[in-house]
Amino acid sequence: MVIQPKIRGFICTNAHPVGCAVNVQKQIDYVKQQGVQGQGPKNVLVLGCSTGYGLASRIVAGFGYGAKTLGVCFEKEASESKTASAGWYNTAAFHNQAKQAGVYAKTLNGDAFSNQMKQDVIDIIKADLGKIDLVVYSLASPRRTDPNTGEVYSSTLKPIGSNVTTKNLNTSKRVIDEITVEAANEDEIANTVKVMGGEDWELWIKALKEADVLAENFITTSYTYIGKELTWPIYGHATIGKAKEDLDRATQVIRNMTADLNGEAFVSSLNAVVTQASSAIPIMPLYISALFKVMKGDGTYEGTIEQIHGLFTDNLYAEQRRFDEGGHLFQNYKELEDSVQQRVQKVWDTVQTETIDEMTDYVGYHNEFLHLFGFGFDGVDYDADVSPLADW
Ligand code: NAD
Repeated sequence: MVIQPKIRGFICTNAHPVGCAVNVQKQIDYVKQQGVQGQGPKNVLVLGCSTGYGLASRIVAGFGYGAKTLGVCFEKEASESKTASAGWYNTAAFHNQAKQAGVYAKTLNGDAFSNQMKQDVIDIIKADLGKIDLVVYSLASPRRTDPNTGEVYSSTLKPIGSNVTTKNLNTSKRVIDEITVEAANEDEIANTVKVMGGEDWELWIKALKEADVLAENFITTSYTYIGKELTWPIYGHATIGKAKEDLDRATQVIRNMTADLNGEAFVSSLNAVVTQASSAIPIMPLYISALFKVMKGDGTYEGTIEQIHGLFTDNLYAEQRRFDEGGHLFQNYKELEDSVQQRVQKVWDTVQTETIDEMTDYVGYHNEFLHLFGFGFDGVDYDADVSPLADW
């Protein structure tokens, strides 16, 4: 099958197996080239391992520290007529590379929110790994089925209090326009916390602890985005921000729950980057395009793999960790510098449709978006007939 991108709004509905393998290879190459110093993880569980920050975490653990990685993701397999999802191809590529390097990797594809998945993971840890010393919680999902009641909760990306009208880069039409996002009601806020808050992270650690598969001194981290004024209306002070606040509550619960193991739990604050999850958030395309322009100009731009490599080597496994004022591991400190934010604000205030390319790095944003699905890589023949089937 000849596979060309099929973009619908903020999502691409297909993926290229060869391009996804290139995407994974580039991240592995970066980590090998940078190297790691000192002690790191040995047996790692990555929840949400197939794309974005979770995939990068798996790559740094596996190819930086040589750790054994067990991953969980929710991806679609290919059929003869339809491609698999990008995360499926990424995972197949990761397994290929791990096999060649002699690094243990196993991946379970299914619903991480379910009790069954927790049990399946525990069985594999017992059979293959003994105990886990790092749990990365990197799920991003629009819905969650409560494993005990069967009720399905959906998250929303809405402001809290009042409607928000804001400037927007409309990626379908490639124009600057305005969008109005309606304020969430109480149910929508609570449901978003239920999906993207800390409850499931807590349930994972509880299940792993009760099964006695957490090592002494184990570490766990979940990921958050803490931006500044520009993103507050739709992120920090909105439904998703409320869910992220709940991670702070869960951190304390997990610390108490694992105190006898000397366990450590952190929420790590990361850069805004282009992922399938972030491209669905209104304002992010404009914010990230402006941010890329400023940070690339300063030489401080970091994508997913650079952020996670930095998180592991300079923070999570460093002698001295860097915290923000909320007690999160602070990895997006360069993005949040006042001078960076002020210049992003200036772009935001003045950019018009005619000046998108001059004032922002929308081209860079769009290329990153294509890369997520394995498109837009030099050296990949997108006119070639390729099999959509892949396995791991
Ligand atoms: P992503 O969409 O790239 O990855 C989500 C992962 O979750 C995938 O591996 C997917 O397969 C998995 N997943 C989703 N539902 C699942 C389910 N029911 N069962 C099993 N796996 C499931 O997202 P991302 O942007 O890398 O986000 C990961 C975390 O990082 C989130 O907590 C997000 O809020 C946070 N974060 C993202 C950004 C950003 O700009 N993208 C910035 C800071 C923090």
